[in-house]
Amino acid sequence: MEELELRIKRVRERIAEAALRKGRNPEEIILVAVTKTVEPERIMAAAELGIEHFGENRVQEALEKIPRINFLLKRPVTWHMVGHLQTNKVPKAIRLFDFIHSVDSVRLALELSKRASAQGKTIPILLEVNVSGEATKFGFPPEEMEKAVPEILVLPGLSLQGLMTIAPIVKDPEEARPYFTRLRELRDKLAEKFPQASWKHLSMGMTDDFEVAVEEGATMVRIGRAIFGERR
Ligand SMILES: *Cc1c(COP(=O)(O)O)cnc(C)c1O
Repeated sequence: MEELELRIKRVRERIAEAALRKGRNPEEIILVAVTKTVEPERIMAAAELGIEHFGENRVQEALEKIPRINFLLKRPVTWHMVGHLQTNKVPKAIRLFDFIHSVDSVRLALELSKRASAQGKTIPILLEVNVSGEATKFGFPPEEMEKAVPEILVLPGLSLQGLMTIAPIVKDPEEARPYFTRLRELRDKLAEKFPQASWKHLSMGMTDDFEVAVEEGATMVRIGRAIFGERR
């Protein structure tokens, strides 16, 4: 088996094992292959090996890759925006991406709503939460969610589907667990308070911590290096 194929197989097995440890159905977890810095040829190869969801974190890079890949692929794939999105890049982002994981302010939600509605689209979004409170991270502070959610729920052109977070970089993945637990608990609280949204997705877990994230309820894991190798 080719290296990329083996890596994908291994990641899928690890996701399934983590899910089964918690009595979850592995099929409810979406593997988003994060392709920042990965060249289109390898992205195409991954798509041919069965990857259906891809993530990029910069609009400029996505613009150079996504249209070309979509044109060349035989069957459509789903593109996820996982990085910080500047409001001035929203029109391009809406054209390129099918799912936005990184809505980190009401201002950004307003802009997405305005542009999506103008194009007659409804775009699925997740709200990014800065659970760890690290100053370097984007995302809503958890305590601002109860105020932000009702402001976002009334906006046309957006379909709120859940929450996303990036855990701090830690040595032992177990140390990331409390952040994932907190995101799940926050989601459960919001789902109770605002039942009009779906809240079905928790986008959490990357190469170094995805198994713990799956054990804590992740429905989307965003994985780059474990699939494509170290980035230069
Ligand atoms: C790069 C990136 C990932 C994937 O990170 P890996 O450690 O390579 O798995 C996931 N989420 C976001 C937001 C990223 O920028």
